[in-house]
Amino acid sequence: MVLVYSDNKNITIEMLSKAAELAKETKKKVTATIIGKADENLAKEYISYGADKVFIAETNLKDFKAEEYADILSKIVKETKSEIILVGSNKNGKELAARLGGLLNAGCIVDSNNVYMKNNKLLAERIVYSGNAIAVNQFNSKPAIVTIPSKAFDPLKKDTSRKGEVTKKKIDGEKSNSKIVKVTEMKTGGVNVEDAEIIVSCGRGFKNKDDIKLVQELADVLKGKTVGCSRPIAADMKWLSEEHWIGLSGHKVKPKLYIAAGISGQIQHIAGMRDSGIVVAINKDPDALIFKSADYGIVGDLYTVLPKLISAVKEKMG
Ligand SMILES: Cc1cc2nc3c(=O)[nH]c(=O)nc-3n(C[C@H](O)[C@H](O)[C@H](O)COP(=O)(O)OP(=O)(O)OC[C@H]3O[C@@H](n4cnc5c(N)ncnc54)[C@H](O)[C@@H]3O)c2cc1C
Repeated sequence: MVLVYSDNKNITIEMLSKAAELAKETKKKVTATIIGKADENLAKEYISYGADKVFIAETNLKDFKAEEYADILSKIVKETKSEIILVGSNKNGKELAARLGGLLNAGCIVDSNNVYMKNNKLLAERIVYSGNAIAVNQFNSKPAIVTIPSKAFDPLKKDTSRKGEVTKKKIDGEKSNSKIVKVTEMKTGGVNVEDAEIIVSCGRGFKNKDDIKLVQELADVLKGKTVGCSRPIAADMKWLSEEHWIGLSGHKVKPKLYIAAGISGQIQHIAGMRDSGIVVAINKDPDALIFKSADYGIVGDLYTVLPKLISAVKEKMG
């Protein structure tokens, strides 16, 4: 069995396509897991995106605690005899996967962007050395646990006619010794670069905070509305919040169109946007690294290019 779990629906759906591929190769089935409330609609949705089975572990737990969820998931792994376990690589998922590895005495690879079978062994790839190399890890024992970041795989086409089996079971995890004292929701400005289809990003080529309105304006006329940035803009200058930060230590994005203005294209920035569809780079240095990752390059001063681009797009879009 190939088991898929994340508390994030989108990552689960993305992982299901890879799970279906692995299941086909290993002649197994795909089980999606839901922990918490018995959400039948969600179960149906997972089936329409490639799950053969959905295991709903009903629990009274109110908050996520990795130790309790890991205990529940380990029981599901044993019950479903799962050999490959894909866990969504968000904050909760990474902690959960590591604990699950401990409980099952299993290998765990974190943040893999490709998983495949070779000579009957499961291999998981990770980007290492700031994006300069790819480490290929081989599992020599079962079960194998791999955490998968968002946007690593494209979901399968939704097929509502697919049939699958839903199993519901009351499972409670071993009570944890830790206590959640307070949960405070992080205040965000509603920016979600990870799901954006069009991103216009700014880098240190901008001289002042105020000038960033040029990228905002271009993003608006393109109806993308999403502004991204390189690390110095968010971390050093603090002109934009961390929600906009793209790269190795920021957000990983996969828009259809990525426009980078005044960004040099260091490997740590590329690591966050390399999966973008079309990349347009604007830089006054013809030798800037960013042009190596771009489909279209505009060599010029962003203060001249951006206003022209904005009015050209406005004219085109009516
Ligand atoms: C461990 C680690 C993690 C990191 N993580 C990240 C990360 O997640 N994201 C990230 O972005 N960086 C990250 N970095 C930093 C990264 O190495 C670079 O320093 C950073 O990406 C550079 O940002 P920049 O391109 O905006 O600035 P610069 O490298 O200074 O580039 C500015 C560019 O603007 C161009 N320019 C200047 N003026 C103009 C103008 N008027 N018109 C047009 N072009 C102009 C210049 O030619 C230059 O190419 C990380 C570094 C480390 C060590």
